[in-house]
Amino acid sequence: MALSRAQTSSGESLISSTFASRYVRTALPRFRMPEQSIPKDAAYQIINDELMLDGNPRLNLASFVTTWMEPECDKLIQDSVNKNYVDMDEYPVTTEFQNRCVNMIAHLFNAPIGEDETAVGVGTVGSSEAIMLAGLAFKRKWQNKMKAEGKPHDKPNIVTGANVQVCWEKFARYFEVELKEVKLREGYYVMDPEKAVELVDENTICVAAILGSTLNGEFEDVKRLNDLLVAKNAETGWDTPIHVDAASGGFIAPFIYPELEWDFRLPLVKSINVSGHKYGLVYAGVGWVIWRNKEDLPDELIFHINYLGADQPTFTLNFSKGSSQIIAQYYQLIRLGFEATRTSCKIAGTTQRCSGRESRRWATFTWCPRTRACRSWPSPSRTRPTTRCSRWSRACAASAGLFRHTQCPPTPSTSPSCVWSSVRTSAAAWPSASSPTSRRSWWRWTRMPRSMGITSM
Ligand SMILES: *Cc1c(COP(=O)(O)O)cnc(C)c1O
Repeated sequence: MALSRAQTSSGESLISSTFASRYVRTALPRFRMPEQSIPKDAAYQIINDELMLDGNPRLNLASFVTTWMEPECDKLIQDSVNKNYVDMDEYPVTTEFQNRCVNMIAHLFNAPIGEDETAVGVGTVGSSEAIMLAGLAFKRKWQNKMKAEGKPHDKPNIVTGANVQVCWEKFARYFEVELKEVKLREGYYVMDPEKAVELVDENTICVAAILGSTLNGEFEDVKRLNDLLVAKNAETGWDTPIHVDAASGGFIAPFIYPELEWDFRLPLVKSINVSGHKYGLVYAGVGWVIWRNKEDLPDELIFHINYLGADQPTFTLNFSKGSSQIIAQYYQLIRLGFEATRTSCKIAGTTQRCSGRESRRWATFTWCPRTRACRSWPSPSRTRPTTRCSRWSRACAASAGLFRHTQCPPTPSTSPSCVWSSVRTSAAAWPSASSPTSRRSWWRWTRMPRSMGITSM
């Protein structure tokens, strides 16, 4: 306990102790605002001490969300906490950063953007808000089409796998869209594209595929879904589109499986969301939604306001929000570039494979780029899936060599994603995966007291 001694005007000395002060000795009311004010240091101490009962974010790996960024970025974040993002006239550079992020991400997702065109997209609080916006755009487009054809437009539905994240259920309930879920089955834990297309009818506003299923990280087969849907649309005359929920996979696939077609290269993919705070490597509070073209975002959803200065188009659920996360996302994109992001993805993928193998419930998933057959990953009982390596792409083999004999962490207590984020976030800080230092760091990260075995990637 720190004691400080101060002199009063009368010369007598006073001992003041934070923990002996009356502010800390009497409990504050919990649910009512206190009558009196308290000194700022007492307020700080009281809150700081109560927060000690929270978990340590660096040990919380459960929500795949970033828990560490470089100090330089922390400084940018701190310096911009007082900027309201929505005030674009006052903070035009922040707006410019968001636009650059949108364009960079749209290019990563192979959006068909002409030489002098800019991408269509927006920064959000996370993938959930991004999905609400994308869902609303689909709903409105579908309604407009049905109205124009003089057909009923009061029973929209959306087709997803039963493995969707809760935000899709929220979207369905909040915005009154029926959710038609494709059931999972033993040994197959993602949406079956054939079954999804069977569920599609004239009232289907879109089929949502997930890149990085919340249950096991597995990529759904968007290309197959696209091909089946193209055929069904041709047969029926509908034009049911696809949305890809790439909350976690959107910052993985472009870097390590560039040849995998899941994005705007597929003609029916009209919008994609990604969480900046997952593999975008930013602290919680940022997501992105990108549309293929201007036509895929109905104009009437965009509001134009002018009370902060010039005309501003907005399409978000919230009005005010902080700027820091946007700035932090821009930092990560330019700081890491393609190269380092790719490295951190590989490391994350390796860890994920480890954790998948460790936990029997999740054992079937993986991200094998060559076969793209996540489902055919060796059976859970196999501890050394070495034979697969020879069939992997060169990129994968490179990472295989790099991380051979990685020691797997013990089974996470809650989910396999437990192991993801710390490795991912620390990976971002590593200058190059091939340097001896980074290899050492990897060992430090993966060496756990209760080791469960060795895997050779
Ligand atoms: C995390 C996640 C979401 C929700 O994203 P937030 O950014 O947390 O709002 C949606 N879909 C999938 C597949 C996810 O992994």
